[in-house]
Amino acid sequence: MSQPLEVVPAGSFCWNEQCPDYGVVAAGNLRRYGKTPGGVQRLQCKRCRKVFAATLGTPFYGIRNPDKMLLVLSLLAERVSLRGIHRMTRVKPDTTLVYLERAAAHVQIIEALLQRSYQVTRVQLDALWAFVGHKGEKGGTSKKRSAAPSGAPGQSTWTHGCGSAAP
Ligand SMILES: [Zn+2]
Repeated sequence: MSQPLEVVPAGSFCWNEQCPDYGVVAAGNLRRYGKTPGGVQRLQCKRCRKVFAATLGTPFYGIRNPDKMLLVLSLLAERVSLRGIHRMTRVKPDTTLVYLERAAAHVQIIEALLQRSYQVTRVQLDALWAFVGHKGEKGGTSKKRSAAPSGAPGQSTWTHGCGSAAP
């Protein structure tokens, strides 16, 4: 029952810059053309005959399982740890970080999809993007900042989403 991802412009136009239909959405020039080895729908442009993955230009290009990617991102947004995600979805931390990078490169679409399909809230999304900022400190250097486990109030830098006037 997975609905088509309408927000994603995937496969809605030809990506061949030489093609007259390049970038023209819903030109009716695309037809289904089998699947990639990874199971992703492929499309062929009837104008120029070029074949490409339907996910080209989307956050899911080259991703085997877009649904799982969204699931993982929604878990990250709920502050589930990388290890927790591995336990729950069997997605390895490395892969989760790849998903995260992809997401960061396609913020708008990812936010729209997560909000629609996973009811992820604005605050959770902010937490997700905050995570993108933090992941730079790759596990190796264990800088324990000796923070209190319960979290001392104050120091958080990202809690203020712009424009959200709390009552
Ligand atoms: Zn074309």
